[in-house]
Amino acid sequence: MQDEKKSNTFELRHSRHLLLDQLDVDGVKKIHNSKILIIGAGGLGCPAAQYLVSSGINSLQWVDPDIVSESNLPRQILFAPNRVGQKKVLAGMDHLKKMSPEITILPEPVKANSKNLPGWISAADVVLECSDQFKTKQLVNKLCVQFKRPLIIGSAIQWNGQLQVIDPKLINQACYACVFDPKDNVTDAACGAFGVFAPAVGTIGILQANEALKIVAGLKTSVGKLLLFDALNLDFNFIEINKRKDCPVCNKD
Ligand SMILES: [Zn+2]
Repeated sequence: MQDEKKSNTFELRHSRHLLLDQLDVDGVKKIHNSKILIIGAGGLGCPAAQYLVSSGINSLQWVDPDIVSESNLPRQILFAPNRVGQKKVLAGMDHLKKMSPEITILPEPVKANSKNLPGWISAADVVLECSDQFKTKQLVNKLCVQFKRPLIIGSAIQWNGQLQVIDPKLINQACYACVFDPKDNVTDAACGAFGVFAPAVGTIGILQANEALKIVAGLKTSVGKLLLFDALNLDFNFIEINKRKDCPVCNKD
């Protein structure tokens, strides 16, 4: 009786997804059973996590060493002012648990690095890279290629955002290092120095959730292009990207 009631509630909650031709019961179940890893609990990670959980995922591992600060609140929409000073992934977990009490969340309030990431990435069905660190993005890309895990990388600064979907299971598709050379001397453009428009970064985070849900539901993956979003002029542009023959990550053989 209890199980039947639970099943009815689940179907009612996700009824608008069940009506979609591309999802149906099978797709909604695949979403529910997926294991998702998010690296970063900032302006990308918060809206991404919120939509993943509201859409029915039941297992989330979430990595970020930072604490909530006052200047985070406009973008990091899981945090109320009373959370300032708390670890982001713990405060975020409390919010997500209220949305979906039965979800399993593994908060990791530490910096992602080459020691902890391999185990987490190999255990995930899909990975969302939501940090603001070029080196972390490169490391996550390298490990996702190694373990053949789909990866969605987002970034945003000022009015502009970028999004790339990488699926190492597909042959002849570009990885992050095919587009941005790991040897490039990139200085991370911190929001604290240059500013960022809250809905612009939120849009990219939601699109990361959009792509992750499609992947775990078994729908077509949007690889082979880099999205460039200009929030000031409301422009969405795509650049076609190709696998680099000399990519040090995905083509080193
Ligand atoms: Zn590559």
